[in-house]
Amino acid sequence: MIIMHNSIFIKTYGCPNNQAESEIMSGLLSKNGYDIITESLDNKSKSDSARNRMTNCKSAIAKVDIIIINTCVVKSQTENKIIDEIISIVKEYPGKKLIIAGCMPEIRKKIIKKKKKKASMISTHHIDKIVDVVNKITKSSSGDLARVKITDLRNKSAIGKTIERVVLTGKASNCKLLHPRIRTNDIVHITPISSGCSSACAYCATKLAKGELQSYNPEVIVNEIKNGLKQGCKEFWLTAQDCGCYGMDIMTKSSSRDLAIGKITDLRNKSAIDINTNLPTLINRIASLEGTFFLRIGMMNPMHLRKFYPELIKAYSNDKVFKFLHLPVQSGSDKLLQSMNRGYTNSEFIEIINAFKKAYPMIHIWTDVIAGLPGETEDDFQKTIGLLKKTAPEFTNVSRFTARPGTAAAEMEQIPNRIINERSSVLSELTRRITIKKNKQWIGWSGKAIIEEHNQKKNSYLARNYAYKPIVITKPHKDLVNGKRLELGQIINVKIIDTEKILFGKIL
Ligand code: SF4
Repeated sequence: MIIMHNSIFIKTYGCPNNQAESEIMSGLLSKNGYDIITESLDNKSKSDSARNRMTNCKSAIAKVDIIIINTCVVKSQTENKIIDEIISIVKEYPGKKLIIAGCMPEIRKKIIKKKKKKASMISTHHIDKIVDVVNKITKSSSGDLARVKITDLRNKSAIGKTIERVVLTGKASNCKLLHPRIRTNDIVHITPISSGCSSACAYCATKLAKGELQSYNPEVIVNEIKNGLKQGCKEFWLTAQDCGCYGMDIMTKSSSRDLAIGKITDLRNKSAIDINTNLPTLINRIASLEGTFFLRIGMMNPMHLRKFYPELIKAYSNDKVFKFLHLPVQSGSDKLLQSMNRGYTNSEFIEIINAFKKAYPMIHIWTDVIAGLPGETEDDFQKTIGLLKKTAPEFTNVSRFTARPGTAAAEMEQIPNRIINERSSVLSELTRRITIKKNKQWIGWSGKAIIEEHNQKKNSYLARNYAYKPIVITKPHKDLVNGKRLELGQIINVKIIDTEKILFGKIL
């Protein structure tokens, strides 16, 4: 057999969770002998070592044998970009093998097939099978099977042959932990703690792709963190579609066999044992591990958090937990929260924010709002403005509503695009002003921060303080502190000296 080293380009769209899944696919493929080239939409903010692995998208595609696009379905705008990208690959490189991964294959199979008939698909539920998929569609130039024999014995007639197209979709309960990784940032380990969620927000296409909540075994999560620590990681981002519902499906019973393999799904199993976990319990367990590291807690739907936030505030008291809270409110109107099935009210959102602010006055709060949800009146929109002014989050991610196929919101009466765009611009301008105002409060602050990224071109560093505030250090004493080069993950003493949309600091 001729041994070929096929090269694969992986492009990632979407959230940190998708980034983690690309890192896992890269790790698995690399371990099996494939050369991996990755690309990020924003490579300005990545570490040097990561940037070295990244390259211009077009030139990378020209060089490789296989292209994997890891997709996202949250916004129509992103999906349209992905479709354009598929069209351009098909036009420029008709002979290249294309694999569409992530959420799109789960709910947008037809459109992918329409754009590239021979595209393989592997949905978010099956990323651990990426090596099988690549093996199956790979053939060496001399006609021999490339590198590795087909391993999927379910299809006996496939052994020894290459296949033009593999489609692996449908819900599955696979734990996405304890896999090899090629990380985007060498010190950041993105740690999925569950898949799916327990909500049913009317506008959400992610739910259609990811399905019901499947919390991962806390033992396995802790082992994943220990592995990351051994490999030199300093930041662990706990991520999920909704971190707030972590553990709700395993609060009562699960089987000891599932425990061993990290899957906890079958609550009907009679030989079940108690796990009794939730997000604060998980944080406490992880934060009790030895070593210098930090935890960034991902997005939480206020729906669940309102029930246990005092416990979470306590868990945040550990110095290893960044004082950072991502709580997507989506609208200032209770009427819209109800029609979107969000499961909380604005006063509950404010109650949670105020409680965290009381415990941690400089806590860094992110939220998300959607402009132009179906049925949003001028009065509803003004309520969102009022809520943002009142709670003043440090950062607000403003999205323009777009109806996602298959969701309940797509069937509701839509707001004209012109109004959605106008409202989105007003919200963006407001949140920009709030960010600048809040940043001013940090001027003069000094304390410890961890170096997270290095921009070699600009010779600047990005550090994060205890509240996960990004601090840009532009004149790092010619790269030297106490005679030593700065390294990613290094803790430095820094003073914040200036601000705009971002904080600027100097090393003390
Ligand atoms: S919590 Fe709501 S918005 Fe988030 S993934 Fe679940 S259904 Fe979608």
